[in-house]
Amino acid sequence: MEENDYDVLIVGTGPAGITAAIYGQRLGLRTVVFGDLPGGIIYMIENLANFPGFLEGISGTEFGVKLFQQAQMEGAMFTMVRLDRLEKDHVTFVATDANGHYYSAPCAVLASGRVPRTMPGPPPELKGINFCSVCDGPMFRDKNATLAVVGSNNAAAQHAVTLSRVAHKVLLICRGQNLKMDVTHKNLLAKHNNIETLIGTEVTGYEGLDMVEILCVKTGDGKPDKIPVEGVFLSIGWTPGTQMLKIEADKNHEGYLITDERLKTSVPGLFAAGDVREKSLYQVLTACSDGAIAAKAVSEYLARQ
Ligand SMILES: Cc1cc2nc3c(=O)[nH]c(=O)nc-3n(C[C@H](O)[C@H](O)[C@H](O)COP(=O)(O)OP(=O)(O)OC[C@H]3O[C@@H](n4cnc5c(N)ncnc54)[C@H](O)[C@@H]3O)c2cc1C
Repeated sequence: MEENDYDVLIVGTGPAGITAAIYGQRLGLRTVVFGDLPGGIIYMIENLANFPGFLEGISGTEFGVKLFQQAQMEGAMFTMVRLDRLEKDHVTFVATDANGHYYSAPCAVLASGRVPRTMPGPPPELKGINFCSVCDGPMFRDKNATLAVVGSNNAAAQHAVTLSRVAHKVLLICRGQNLKMDVTHKNLLAKHNNIETLIGTEVTGYEGLDMVEILCVKTGDGKPDKIPVEGVFLSIGWTPGTQMLKIEADKNHEGYLITDERLKTSVPGLFAAGDVREKSLYQVLTACSDGAIAAKAVSEYLARQ
């Protein structure tokens, strides 16, 4: 099956992709959006901080659903199916979704975000190694659990705080000598006396039968140690979600798409918005801003064709 009556294919249902759809529709573009969860990765955010206008914050899930509903009200078409491939055939972008359906359009906006990095080496066979405290934290409630969060960025701090409400103790395991989070997040950690930070501690492996039971670490002086835990949450960075992109576009050394200020990539008609592109601030606000700018740039591009 092939559908080709669209102006723009938008990949991703996170803040960037949905905002591109809202602005695209309002600019009179026929948009189709591929994705999975309404709101994208913000389902992981217990309380969205730093978004102007929400004094007390808002749950990521609630915010994502509102964004999604707004785009639907504007008439955007959501497939809620992931894309397997995005290709370019001469001047036309062709998207193949996971159900084998084809869609084509003269422009595409890649807003596919990024995926959490795993530890180097083969993935352990053990259960209990997670990426989302909001989703997987509740299973440790009332279990007197000790949980480890591996990482030292803002997201790691948010995971630790979320888990501190269900766990007996949370260990924040930081490989370097300094936390990479901002002052607000450092202060947030300090308010929870069941969170302990272990700096200069590197994870070297896991042990357990079915579930992870032991976190193997190396401390600053190189000494190996074993820490008993009931669960581990990884927050050790990201890689851009470009696996479905079968077009050669310029990327930086970490694989993030390089764009100009109108969010054009090196490929005519291909724009990138949100966390998938190289930029200085990876937040919901900047993802929404990118989505709006990309939609405007698509409309200008089409007007020139
Ligand atoms: C734990 C945590 C806490 C955070 N806290 C905050 C905060 O308090 N404030 C803040 O401003 N920011 C916060 N952030 C950052 C913020 O969530 C991101 O910057 C923002 O969600 C980026 O939006 P995006 O649309 O670019 O990408 P995403 O939200 O990642 O959305 C991309 C979407 O594209 C989908 N996708 C990927 N590949 C495909 C494919 N092949 N086909 C279809 N769809 C695909 C993904 O599944 C996803 O749904 C936090 C992040 C985390 C992880």
